[in-house]
Amino acid sequence: MTFAPCSRCLDAASREPSREITRVARAVSLLFAGLFALVAIACSGESNQPTTTAAGDPRPERAKPLVVCTTGMVGDLVRSIAGEHAEVVVLMAPGTDPHLWTPTRNDVLRILEADAVFMNGLLLEGRAGDAFARVEASGRPVVRIAETLDRRELLTDRENPSHFDPHVWMDPILWAKTAPAVASGLAKAAPDHAKEFTTAATQVQERASALDRDISISISSIPVAQRTLVTAHDAFGYFGRRYGLEVLGVQGISTESEPSLAAIESLVALLSEKRIPTIFAESTVSDRTVRAVIEGCTAREHDVKLGDSLYSDALGPAASTAATWEGMLRHNTRAIANGLGGRG
Ligand SMILES: [Zn+2]
Repeated sequence: MTFAPCSRCLDAASREPSREITRVARAVSLLFAGLFALVAIACSGESNQPTTTAAGDPRPERAKPLVVCTTGMVGDLVRSIAGEHAEVVVLMAPGTDPHLWTPTRNDVLRILEADAVFMNGLLLEGRAGDAFARVEASGRPVVRIAETLDRRELLTDRENPSHFDPHVWMDPILWAKTAPAVASGLAKAAPDHAKEFTTAATQVQERASALDRDISISISSIPVAQRTLVTAHDAFGYFGRRYGLEVLGVQGISTESEPSLAAIESLVALLSEKRIPTIFAESTVSDRTVRAVIEGCTAREHDVKLGDSLYSDALGPAASTAATWEGMLRHNTRAIANGLGGRG
């Protein structure tokens, strides 16, 4: 690979005495790799999956390394650290539920072309398939950023105690602790910029500390008796631990299973007993079960409002205030504080 985004890269490239020979050799090698892949597809009759071969590398030449990210939150963090030194592609569109996401054929092509891949890990992308493992087997970095954290800082899944809760982006300090691992993954794809990535990772951590202070001030304005956050699924465990909220989801850690009637009834009882004023739907999850809880509370003569929808597992649309990870956390904080009687 050659990268040419800045003068340092151009200088490095011009120092290579056999650059022209290398370029021709690479072109020939890619041509053979392409032909070999086409023959492999024809022979297998399989046209849905791009094929890589031991002999070939499907990656075309690029001006900058191609860095592929799964979720918008991962992409936002990686972009903050990569700056102009990588082409960052996010596979999941806003509103996509990562628990249920499966890569399209185009997604698989991008993954196989990537010079580095960043994903959340901890089984958040539980249906992602084997494309990531194939990149990893080729020796290119695949960084599961939440899995780089100290396990002692992770929460476990209440329903599956052998699994960790993957929603670590909800705690800004914890999320920012993954920044050095992102910088180091990027440095493998663009070693000339390792220093810039390290500097940017430190800046991400500083901004996360400021964000953390602001969230803390807003959430502590909620009356203590009302610090119970009920959402569509159990995505806010890290947020609750950090800011002192009891957190309950109508669905569990993953959205793959439906909540039981007993789970809904127990939430209705708790909300009615504690007189919690508001519960929250999420942008990536149907509000059907949240509305069932509200109806159950009404039957018990406790009126619960539906608060502003929260961004739990995906960023907001491009033009919205929740289009970045920081914007997402600020939006959620405002909605939660206002809904539970504090100052957002
Ligand atoms: Zn989730």
